[in-house]
Amino acid sequence: MDKQGFTTGIVHGDRKTGTEHGGVHQPIHASVQYGFDRVEDLIGVFQGTKKGGFNYARQGTPTTAALERKITSLEEGVGTVCFSTGMAAITATFLTLLRAGDHLVSSRYVFGNTNSLFGTLRTLGVEVTTVDACSAEEVKSAIRPNTRMVFVETIANPGTQIPDLHNIGNVCRGHGIAYVVDNTITSPALFKPKAIGASLVINSLTKTIAGHGTALGGAVTDTGLFDWSAYPNIAAEYRRSMAQEQGLLQIRKKGLRDMGAALSSEQAHAISVGAETLALRVKQCSENALTLAHFLEGHAAICRVLYPGLKSHPQYGIAQELFKGASWLLSFELTNAECMIEVVNALELPIKATGLGDTRTLIIPVASTIFFDRRRDPQSHGDFRRYAAAVGRHRGH
Ligand SMILES: *Cc1c(COP(=O)(O)O)cnc(C)c1O
Repeated sequence: MDKQGFTTGIVHGDRKTGTEHGGVHQPIHASVQYGFDRVEDLIGVFQGTKKGGFNYARQGTPTTAALERKITSLEEGVGTVCFSTGMAAITATFLTLLRAGDHLVSSRYVFGNTNSLFGTLRTLGVEVTTVDACSAEEVKSAIRPNTRMVFVETIANPGTQIPDLHNIGNVCRGHGIAYVVDNTITSPALFKPKAIGASLVINSLTKTIAGHGTALGGAVTDTGLFDWSAYPNIAAEYRRSMAQEQGLLQIRKKGLRDMGAALSSEQAHAISVGAETLALRVKQCSENALTLAHFLEGHAAICRVLYPGLKSHPQYGIAQELFKGASWLLSFELTNAECMIEVVNALELPIKATGLGDTRTLIIPVASTIFFDRRRDPQSHGDFRRYAAAVGRHRGH
């Protein structure tokens, strides 16, 4: 499909659907309201019979729609819904596709805020089991008759664990379970989760895809592989659409229109521009991170470096097989954890800040920040007590 080349596809994609006045870039549509000469057209937009129309910016604008097309094409999916943040995209996916009494199986190694969201789901009656998803067997044995969804991150933030992506895909297919893959750290430049049978792909656009640290956004893409007509939680009003469209339609209507975490046109535009250099940045950042990982691995004060590009990484083989690069996220552990403050303060270039996917290199001690809330959770202790996670993300020279 991608005969044109990844970057060529992104930079010329906008013009395929036409731009006003022959603009080389998509414009920023600031309008909240969209008016029509004939009321039939307004009705058609509401009822979904007039495809591609807009009525109110909370449900999308021509600018957010252009970004959605871009992400759909990058992930080789059938459609995308954009949100104001990555967390909004994840929340909307869970809240619209899961109901009280349902069961979600997730990798134990996920972004801290996603893990915190599982706590909220539990208060709403959704059962959540977290497992070591580096083993597909563990995922399989956690499945129950009411399991509706399996959730994993391609490379876990911040521990860099990689689930047994391919075999979990087979397990989900065998059980008719929706397979939701957070592709934030890898991005479609390194990996397209459709290849391992993902049903829905989440991207925090804030991170790798925008890449400049000046815009927030999130996206859910449907790969077209899942049969939503067999999924019990689709509301009757969305059953009228084609089976392939039902899941995303429910996410757009219930998760975006009703819950309201809409992406603004200005942010969508900033993300779109960032996405144009995605492949170039990711390649350079992966090279930089590997150099840094080798350096840290040889350093006497460091007892463990977690980077999927290192042969010592437990899932090095999977990274080599599935990803075009090992990404820009790495973690390391000091031999003497007591020195953490001193070591981090002594660094000159990396900025002590939370967040990922900036043009700048950032560093954060995760145990005392992101995982601070989880310090009483015995399961997380072994993994996160001593990590300092660094993001190897320099601008290429
Ligand atoms: C940051 C992050 C998110 C959330 O994205 P925001 O845009 O910050 O809301 C989700 N998943 C992963 C893996 C992340 O690193």
